[in-house]
Amino acid sequence: MFISLDGIDGAGKSTQIDLLRTHLESQGKVVACFRDPGSTKLGEAIREILLHREDIPLANTSEMLLYMAARAQLVADQIRPALQAGATVICDRFLLANVVYQGVAGGLDVEELWGVGKCATGGLSPDVTVVLDIDPEIAVTRLQRGPDRLEKRGIEYFRKVRQGFLEQVSRASPYSLVVNATQSIESIQNEIRQFVEGMCGTP
Ligand code: ADP
Repeated sequence: MFISLDGIDGAGKSTQIDLLRTHLESQGKVVACFRDPGSTKLGEAIREILLHREDIPLANTSEMLLYMAARAQLVADQIRPALQAGATVICDRFLLANVVYQGVAGGLDVEELWGVGKCATGGLSPDVTVVLDIDPEIAVTRLQRGPDRLEKRGIEYFRKVRQGFLEQVSRASPYSLVVNATQSIESIQNEIRQFVEGMCGTP
């Protein structure tokens, strides 16, 4: 099974992925966790450019295609082999984020992005996408580090991102869940577990 967690930075993705991983491993499952962009040599190099190399100017379309290239490598090198080996794959972000950040909020054509995404992933989509939904003004107060290139885009951009996640999530996967991410860490985790376990048919 392939699960993706998404939402704006500070929503709690890493926190929930760690807990879900521990839970699934305690049930005897083999779990492979990745981040998009990242988790391959190419993907990490692209991630560095996208988030931290502000000395390298990026046109909107180049930025979008770099995310797509990182994801193509991630699917080929990591996700497909892990799924073929029978692992449960949990990915911190996937194509949905690209469509929302560069399309809905960034102004690129949303339909085109879903199309380019299909090419980049070879048509692989998560079985389940979980969006952690939170007001960006609350999320930003949770971040302890300085803002990266994306996070400097301002609150209006992030309001569009939040709306974009809600509008587009049902297209990301056959099954999708939106969780109120202002709840306690435990309540959010319980909602995610119940949803995932409902899909596995396990109690
Ligand atoms: P993301 O991966 O989405 O950027 P993190 O999991 O890194 O988010 O969480 C960002 C910060 O918010 C961390 O300090 C984390 O402990 C805290 N946090 C995560 N979930 C919650 C929650 N439900 N309520 C309050 N704080 C949270």
